Amino acid sequence: MAEYTDPRECDGDGVADEMPELSDGDDEDIDNDEEQWMEEEDEEDSHPVTVTCLFCDRLLSSVPATLQHCTAEHQVNLVDLIRKHNLDDYGYIKMINYIRSTKCVASCLTGLPGAPLPWEGEDFLRPVLQDDPLLQTDPEELCEGSSLSTCPSSGAQSHDALQQWAQVAEERARSSEEALARAMDDLHKLKLLAQGLVLNAETSRSGNTGAVAELREDEDEAYFSSYGHYSIHEEMLKDKVRTESYRDFMYRNPEVFRDKVVLDVGCGTGILSMFAARAGAKKVIAVDQSEIIYQAMDIVRSNQLEDKITLIKGRIEDIKLPVEKVDIIISEWMGYFLLFESMLDSVLYARDLYLADGGSVYPDLCNISLAAVGDTQKHQDHIAFWDDVYGFNMACMKKAVVPEAMVEVVKTETLISEPTVIQTIDCNRVCLSELEFASDFCLKITNTTDCTAIVGYFDIFFDKGCSNKVMFSTGPQVTKTHWKQTVFLLERPISVQAGEELQGKITVRKNKKDPRSLLVTFDFGDRKLTYSLQ
Ligand code: SAH
Repeated sequence: MAEYTDPRECDGDGVADEMPELSDGDDEDIDNDEEQWMEEEDEEDSHPVTVTCLFCDRLLSSVPATLQHCTAEHQVNLVDLIRKHNLDDYGYIKMINYIRSTKCVASCLTGLPGAPLPWEGEDFLRPVLQDDPLLQTDPEELCEGSSLSTCPSSGAQSHDALQQWAQVAEERARSSEEALARAMDDLHKLKLLAQGLVLNAETSRSGNTGAVAELREDEDEAYFSSYGHYSIHEEMLKDKVRTESYRDFMYRNPEVFRDKVVLDVGCGTGILSMFAARAGAKKVIAVDQSEIIYQAMDIVRSNQLEDKITLIKGRIEDIKLPVEKVDIIISEWMGYFLLFESMLDSVLYARDLYLADGGSVYPDLCNISLAAVGDTQKHQDHIAFWDDVYGFNMACMKKAVVPEAMVEVVKTETLISEPTVIQTIDCNRVCLSELEFASDFCLKITNTTDCTAIVGYFDIFFDKGCSNKVMFSTGPQVTKTHWKQTVFLLERPISVQAGEELQGKITVRKNKKDPRSLLVTFDFGDRKLTYSLQ
């Protein structure tokens, strides 16, 4: 799993808006249609329209050129006539057909005050010329472009007029786009306002579970929409340590999967489901609440695995599976510092409801580890930096910076202790309440220096019943993953001696205001530091 943006920081543009259009048909057909359409458009471009003048036999190359010609040669300004008689579409069509059928002179068109117009009859709705371009023109548009098309000029300037007309059209398109952008912006602000209202409702009416549930739903919407965009999945798929470990576990242990029914909780693009199918699973049920599942549907079909893999869109907690029990649950639920995102809760929910007796959840074992870091340079970059920013004292910023755990890659050479495991989670046994815990730890210091931070990371094991066990680590000693490491900076470094043991207690709990984020507290006896992970 990859980054999850704090819902309150989530860009309200709605990732779903950017989703490519779904296709459940044959892509080739779509491409062909598109090409055909473009060809047709090109054809149209290569056949310019010709318009017969209303008063003589002259052929003109466009409607604006015709208007100019009528004004210059016949002293009939069609736009003035439209305006004068307040002509709607029908009135305009009738007038054109009237002129063409009666070959009248200009003076007939001005009409007498109070008298009915000479083209009033319904007969004039019938076109005199077939495919008359003048009839395909909107009179309102003619009027809007009038300053361009009606100025007396020679036919030679029709190209300029066309160009100017195109500019007007472009301008109109641009202002419509701007209006749309403003509307989207307003929508975004409204959404934030609504979120704010819900948040306030929660604090002012604590204990009101309705408001809390609403807030959770809102947050979850942001959570799932962060997984709707392809980029997060690209990052995860490109994380070879992660993806190849899942692949190796399944391909190297086909006996675990042969003829089994597998549930993939949070299938994303469907990669794990496809590994499981290839490893010999009888059936795979792949569930995801995020819009990415529509891509997974295409992906599964493209790989001819639709007979094996059934995809279901929805939260695992909300949907009903088409089977009563499954033999195996696979999921990639891990967040920063393992538990950030709280997706393990959903896997445990699925386990307790759907896993058959004797079934297994993979990965099955997870370790969370800590180590001491001595990196004075990094410490200065993040903390001392605020003492003098372009000659100004911004030290108060430290109070905001320090309590936020950082996600970054820690250089191996800055480790100044042996790592220590603070928690092991067995996904086949652990219960929800155990995902919040406290643990005493002891770090064996290897260098005499200043300890400037504590680093946290996790290791993942595919172990249960596997003849070929697979594991991977997200620690600073090995190839980096997209989880990087989690760094808890100490505002005041602790001076340590090689051989000494740095003792402390760590408490990990969910942030009640945002249950997908974590609060981590370190107690070193003389100081207690709480960090948020979001
Ligand atoms: N299995 C994929 C994606 C992992 S990311 C891979 O390994 O590449 C985790 C996915 O789980 C996301 O797509 C997210 O939308 C989905 N997810 C998280 N919680 C879920 C829940 N409760 N119900 C359904 N899908 C969930």
